[in-house]
Amino acid sequence: MAAKRTPPKPDYKSYTVGWIAILESELNAASLLLDEEHAPLPRKQGDVNSYVLGRMGHHNIVIGFTGHGVYGTNAAANTVTNMLRTFPNIKFGLLVGVGGGVPAAAAERNPYKDVRLGDVVVSQPNKGNGAVIQYDMGKLINDEEFVIQSHLNNPPTILLNAVQLLASHQTLGKGRMGAYLKTSLTKASQSEYMRDYYFPGHDQDHLFRSDYRHQVSNSEDCSQCSLRMAVQRLPRQSSVPSVHYGVIASANTVMRSAAHRDRLRDMYHIACFEMEAAGLMDNFPCLVIRGICDYSDDHKNKVWQPYAAMAAASYARDLLRVIDAEEVGSMEPAKVPAPTPAKVPAKVPAPTPAKVPAKKPVSKPQNPQPARPAAQPVAQPANYYGYYQGGGGVLRGQQPTMGTLWTPYYQYY
Ligand SMILES: [Zn+2]
Repeated sequence: MAAKRTPPKPDYKSYTVGWIAILESELNAASLLLDEEHAPLPRKQGDVNSYVLGRMGHHNIVIGFTGHGVYGTNAAANTVTNMLRTFPNIKFGLLVGVGGGVPAAAAERNPYKDVRLGDVVVSQPNKGNGAVIQYDMGKLINDEEFVIQSHLNNPPTILLNAVQLLASHQTLGKGRMGAYLKTSLTKASQSEYMRDYYFPGHDQDHLFRSDYRHQVSNSEDCSQCSLRMAVQRLPRQSSVPSVHYGVIASANTVMRSAAHRDRLRDMYHIACFEMEAAGLMDNFPCLVIRGICDYSDDHKNKVWQPYAAMAAASYARDLLRVIDAEEVGSMEPAKVPAPTPAKVPAKVPAPTPAKVPAKKPVSKPQNPQPARPAAQPVAQPANYYGYYQGGGGVLRGQQPTMGTLWTPYYQYY
């Protein structure tokens, strides 16, 4: 009888999927979803990332983490550059973590289509426009109209196809996101160090009116904010997160202004605000997956952050389930991005919002929810958000030309 062969020990070339985590809660959520954790490999010279290595389904995963409280588009770009140098066979990436949601305009509110805390937003292109825009990069026209022109590259086809397939699975009740989420929450509950990884409950999900500011500026919760100023929304019966697909707005500052959030939503149909994606999309084939932990206003607290990180990671884990490992193996490795000089946007006084006519969002049925009247055979993911059709011209990575003023659109601090 032949001796049982032990599989070869994984080396740097064994890993094909790069998973980028920025916050520690995002790293923990990803780690909990590994089917198997591998022994760490020696750090390569010059690589400042930390890595957790392992397997999810048939895929060997590198979870890259910078840590040290470093956030923003440049931090994400550096993390990826180091990761691709150290692991030369990575084919694509998943940027998985938390972000700020964008509530629908009042007339469009629906408990399953409207974003709630703990939901998941997936970057999705539409009609030739990129799935991510960098909203602090653009140009002023006639000194008053600011137009965002940074529509970034789209996720690779293999990921877009997987998103569509998974949406169908979810509609047909075959999705596993809820099960992954439940399992990882159970694991977390067994650790005394992960007690804050739990579902806070819909009664802890408050969307305040856009004109109602957070009442104590240095308070970490909304205990001083009046619930009478919260928007009355139809209750959602299910605790399984909804998945939304749309434009992700990325910048180096946190979105804290509900009024500005709403303006950008109406102009560009943005589904989520975050701080890293714009650093990656032009250089790294990847998909952005964000668990919603606040509403991109100044009512921020960290209660929902661990759960939202867990929800995003559970979606990503389910996405990998529907991606064929052999197809991944046949792909060309992602290229290490060439170093690009940092762009320093010019500062101008708070400009007038762009006068781009709002487009009516494309409204299609949402993913599987128990309260929905009937499942529909969906071949494509739903898009609740339209896309800004203008732009073109100046792209990220290009130097500003005469008449083009790079500028932060708004200051949030
Ligand atoms: Zn508040």
